Amino acid sequence: MAVCSVADQAKAPFSLPALPYSRESLEPIISANTVDFHHGKHHNTYVTNLNKLIENTPYAAQSLEEIIRNTAGKSDLASIFNNAAQVWNHTFYWYSMKPGGGGKPTGELLSRLEADFGSFEKFKEAFVNAATTQFGSGWAWLVLDGSSLKVVKTPNAEVPFTSGQKPLLTIDVWEHAYYLDYQNRRADYVNAWFEKLVNWDFVRDNLK
Ligand code: MN
Repeated sequence: MAVCSVADQAKAPFSLPALPYSRESLEPIISANTVDFHHGKHHNTYVTNLNKLIENTPYAAQSLEEIIRNTAGKSDLASIFNNAAQVWNHTFYWYSMKPGGGGKPTGELLSRLEADFGSFEKFKEAFVNAATTQFGSGWAWLVLDGSSLKVVKTPNAEVPFTSGQKPLLTIDVWEHAYYLDYQNRRADYVNAWFEKLVNWDFVRDNLK
């Protein structure tokens, strides 16, 4: 069963998923220009590379999540893993945002964040801290680990689900995610992203 049916894809050839909103609708937090490069160039290149790399291999008959699990931690398969995981991560990232998002969740999700982090503010602090302190390229995540909510960060293309944690939310902190809009001010991007774009409905769906 897929960890995330939105980010998984059945088998090759994989395709670039359409954005769940228009290219300019994340402005002014993320510009249409950044979205064009990030989705149209970076994400698309991972899709194209992955399809080339797995052509005529057993991976062509596997789902995206199966490829990621089957190549994780294997140095001779790093190219396939990196491109497959980046295809998955980026789709998950696009859905982690929505125009008019952010703010504070309500109901059971809020209660669980308060229970596991002490308060919503402490959760925000942990998430922003993970995203700003990830050294170099990578991702910060809210995950479900057993029955607990946790914040983790991963380098490069690494995904939490290969170590048994279920991803609920992610932010891309590779420079290509924010450099056109924020240059070196990663913390400004992360804070604005958290306050204005987080898609709590997506987190809730992943938690089900
Ligand atoms: Mn990216």
